[in-house]
Amino acid sequence: MSKVNIKFESVGKSYGPLRVVDGLDLDIREGEFVSLLGPSGSGKSTILMMLAGFEDVSEGTISVGGSRIDLLPPHKRNMGVVFQNYALFPHMTVAGNIAFPLEMQGVSRADIAARVSRTLDMVQLSSLKDRRPIQLSGGQQQRVALARALVFEPSVVLMDEPLGALDKQLREQMQLDIRALHKRLGLTIVFVTHDQSEALTMSDRIAVFNRGKIEQIGTPREIYDHPSSRFVAEFIGETN
Ligand code: ADP
Ligand code: MG
Repeated sequence: MSKVNIKFESVGKSYGPLRVVDGLDLDIREGEFVSLLGPSGSGKSTILMMLAGFEDVSEGTISVGGSRIDLLPPHKRNMGVVFQNYALFPHMTVAGNIAFPLEMQGVSRADIAARVSRTLDMVQLSSLKDRRPIQLSGGQQQRVALARALVFEPSVVLMDEPLGALDKQLREQMQLDIRALHKRLGLTIVFVTHDQSEALTMSDRIAVFNRGKIEQIGTPREIYDHPSSRFVAEFIGETN
């Protein structure tokens, strides 16, 4: 069994009196694809934001490879992040969008060119590198967002409902692409979704959330065949 990569210990998050994440213990193994699945408002995005460093934890600790990361700024955590609202820069080309985070970090020009070209290859966008976002389909735009998350060659990628805005056919294609990338690059992926079928088809393990707590965690098979509560059974049984 591979080693634990990400470890949440007793992590809590409150906004004033509102308790959004409550006593979260979660181990994610290196190279694992874990989905955080649950209804809207169950705390999934907050957990991802704490892991990425865009939100502080109120309690508890988060570590990666045995070292605490919860006090590090986002750019020191070496994680790629992809959101549903991926906000590409409209005035920049595909290559420019991917280069941007490297430019912000002061990476040298030669290094930027090499990394951008490698990353474009990874997501099969090399032929579109000089286009602007408006000249791309929704799926292609999402691929650019993915490339931007991969450009620092992170070992961990966090995705928050990245496919929510796409139509069914594109979504299914991107699901396959992301799975393939996960495997090929040996990435650890934490994937937030409220879509049961998406979680069931993509994940090595699924953590089902209800009001800031893990209701059940297991493989898609375990969750589907043996839901541990009525909540899980009903949530998994719903179709979108
Ligand atoms: P999910 O991603 O599962 O839909 P979220 O993590 O976005 O859930 O939100 C969980 C709860 O926290 C919701 O009730 C939401 O309204 C609340 N919340 C999220 N961010 C903030 C914030 N910055 N201030 C106050 N409440 C927030
Ligand atoms: Mg959310």
